[in-house]
Amino acid sequence: MSPRPSRWFRCCLALALILGMASLAAAPPLSPAAQSLVDRAFADLDPDHPVVDVHVHAIGLGQDGDGTFVNPEKLSPRHPVKRLETNLYLKATGVKGLAHFDRDYLEVLAARARAFPRPLKVYLLAMDRAYHPDGTPDPARTEFHVPNAYVLDAAARYPDVFVPVASIHPARKDAIQELEACAAKGVRLLKWLPNAQAIDPADPRYDAFYRRMKELGVVLLTHAGEEKAVAVKGAQALGNPLRLRRPLDLGVTVIVAHCASLGRNEDLDHPGKAASNFELFLRLMDDPKYRGRLYGDLSAITQVNRLPRPLMTLLARDLDDRLLNGSDYPLPGVDLVIWTRRLVALKLITRAERRALNEIWQANPLLFDFVLKRTLRNPRTGRRFAPGVFQRDPVALSG
Ligand SMILES: [Zn+2]
Repeated sequence: MSPRPSRWFRCCLALALILGMASLAAAPPLSPAAQSLVDRAFADLDPDHPVVDVHVHAIGLGQDGDGTFVNPEKLSPRHPVKRLETNLYLKATGVKGLAHFDRDYLEVLAARARAFPRPLKVYLLAMDRAYHPDGTPDPARTEFHVPNAYVLDAAARYPDVFVPVASIHPARKDAIQELEACAAKGVRLLKWLPNAQAIDPADPRYDAFYRRMKELGVVLLTHAGEEKAVAVKGAQALGNPLRLRRPLDLGVTVIVAHCASLGRNEDLDHPGKAASNFELFLRLMDDPKYRGRLYGDLSAITQVNRLPRPLMTLLARDLDDRLLNGSDYPLPGVDLVIWTRRLVALKLITRAERRALNEIWQANPLLFDFVLKRTLRNPRTGRRFAPGVFQRDPVALSG
């Protein structure tokens, strides 16, 4: 981080003050207990730099020809489970009604970000289609699609909160041209969800793409571990953290989403054996040659289906200088996966903190996610995640 506040930051602060006040005024005030938990969450942050959320999903239903797409199966009554899941996501976004969902999603998200007491830099993620190995699109496998142009446009319209994150399938025939075009527009972060997009990060055919990423200083934010939303046979193997050695060895800076905190995979170093994805992620983190190149984000790590081991381990082992804050928004708004009661049982938060957090969740799930991660403590030592985790900016990582 630079020692002086950047022009970007001062401009954001001014805008956030003007725009944030309006949205704050609309929300009912928090109780003194909840407000004091919020205040504590921000108290030890560096006042000259924004808070950073590296993992926020853009979603759109393709309204008004904006290019976004959701697989019709996800909305169809013929697929009740998928539809139920989609409805949970849609509810979590806080958007009322679907008539102008795409526009309203960005509007509500921006209002939630602007309601932070300090400027929040939201990395807004595009999502490329799934592709066949020959570089042709695979619409049946594509769950949802958010074009790069969509997040670039959103960032231009909400410059005080959104930073665009591109998503480019490396099998695309125009993959490198698209990477260069996005980089020319200032994009420095690229997002993959290999299990859903049918990307094998270890495929040597992508080496030229990786080399160009490194030259352009573009960092890779990629999901690893199991993805619940993916039903395609064999897809979970693509989320094996060890497959990320290929880009890492070619010098690409990699952020592993959720610290690969879900599921198991083949231990490629010991054929025939299996290991948890989190353990495989830690093996990479412990490899001295990936210091300064490999990072993890805290998105989704507090969700009930991922507890307790990854979160407990990260609080016990101090890897804070290689962690980044991420919310996986809109997921913090899905009450089915947010069980604050379980966090009390694990002694990660107190009962009083839980009450305050539940109140914050009602008001603003994005703020809730941040305050929760600032409040969690190691039950034995009392250690919390360091403030630097929450202000670490991915653009500063590539070198
Ligand atoms: Zn995500």
